[in-house]
Amino acid sequence: MYWEKDVETMNRENLAVLQLERLQKTIGQAANSFYYDKLFKEIGLKTEDVRSLAGLDKIPPTTKEDLREHWPYGFLATSRDELVRMHSSSGTTGRATVIFHTAGDINEWTNLLSRCMYMTGMRKSDVFQNMMTYGLFTGGLGFHYGAERIGALVIPAGAGNSKRQIQLLKDFETTVIHIIPSYALHLSTVFEELQIDPKDTNIRMAYVGAEPHSEKMRQKIEDIYGFKAYNSYGLSEMNGPGVAFECTCQNGLHIWEDNFLVEVLDPVTMKPLPDGEEGELVLTTLAREGMPIIRYRTKDLTRILPGDCPCGRTHRRIERIKGRTDDMLILKGVNIFPIQIEKKLMEIPGVGKNFLIILDREGYNDHMTIKVEVERQFFDGDLKHLEQLRRKIVEGLKSDILITPKVDLVDPDSLPQSEGKAKRVIDNRKD
Ligand code: AMP
Ligand code: ZN
Repeated sequence: MYWEKDVETMNRENLAVLQLERLQKTIGQAANSFYYDKLFKEIGLKTEDVRSLAGLDKIPPTTKEDLREHWPYGFLATSRDELVRMHSSSGTTGRATVIFHTAGDINEWTNLLSRCMYMTGMRKSDVFQNMMTYGLFTGGLGFHYGAERIGALVIPAGAGNSKRQIQLLKDFETTVIHIIPSYALHLSTVFEELQIDPKDTNIRMAYVGAEPHSEKMRQKIEDIYGFKAYNSYGLSEMNGPGVAFECTCQNGLHIWEDNFLVEVLDPVTMKPLPDGEEGELVLTTLAREGMPIIRYRTKDLTRILPGDCPCGRTHRRIERIKGRTDDMLILKGVNIFPIQIEKKLMEIPGVGKNFLIILDREGYNDHMTIKVEVERQFFDGDLKHLEQLRRKIVEGLKSDILITPKVDLVDPDSLPQSEGKAKRVIDNRKD
């Protein structure tokens, strides 16, 4: 049941001792980099000053902008000879950041992914089809190595090419997949086109992640395919996937505290929030040599879930990510996260698999239009049915997000579909 029982079920006191030991080592290692050497000198910090985990708040958080400004080698804490791999973020919000790994880093990262997958029940006998982009993006190679270490047969299918994916699934009797949630919904329409029931495969579970998705969306994916979908969270700055992962209880994601020091801070004041309150996740690497990062502002919003998990793991759980602080839309003074819209849409019968939010400005007035794909059976020639559905969506959203969007119903599979992370918002407003 456990990949590394000792670590996964370590009592909290021992875990804190391990964390402090690793934190001190990390700070010593980070001081080899241009960026942290300068920062530590500026704030007058000596490695031996950090005597408790709480002492960490002497160090100001590191941001994506810091990584960009010191691109590419300013955070490097080993010689370049020690490096064996680089990866980068997907660059959806500006210039991509680069992360370098030593052989030891790759080994640790691989171990984390094996731990995640083993936790959900992946074993040697599984056939694992990885439908994520290989290359600079971490979702490809990260999972690939982890599954190989478990001993599963890995099919490095990569993203997209849906018909070939389905062919591979059938030919090699794939039992586990790794897929972006929005792509999982799109793929099911390709199954329909081929007149194959998506339930008619050997897949028993999927790892879904890399983009925010609601519980409703997970349920929709599970219903369509008849498998279990486990949420996988990570970011390239913290290796990539393998930071936090759901166990079979599906009640939040265990965040691997032997490898990452977790803080949840108020995104405005940067003050720590009590357990259970939602804020920005700030993470420190605890086992990285090539490029340690201290107090990294992920911009992801979540909270620590209270209580113990029945699975026996002691690493705390975070709630599924609500979105990034920079995903928040402000419309007529109301703050809205795309996931709130997604959640409502997925609750309404008749709503299809994709949607797009468009923001426009006319004079001083902002407008939101939501294009929503509708399930095929709704196009039965009766316009009344469509109009009823449209009204239901408008009313549902109005009560949830407090503004009244314009809703356009569109044909199934007619909105742009990305192979990578879905682009949910087009903002045409000029500042
Ligand atoms: P990248 O560094 O390009 O891999 O992007 C990492 C970002 O993707 C994270 O900071 C999150 O904003 C988002 N992300 C990754 N996994 C998840 C997940 N399971 N749920 C929600 N957002 C996710
Ligand atoms: Zn658990």
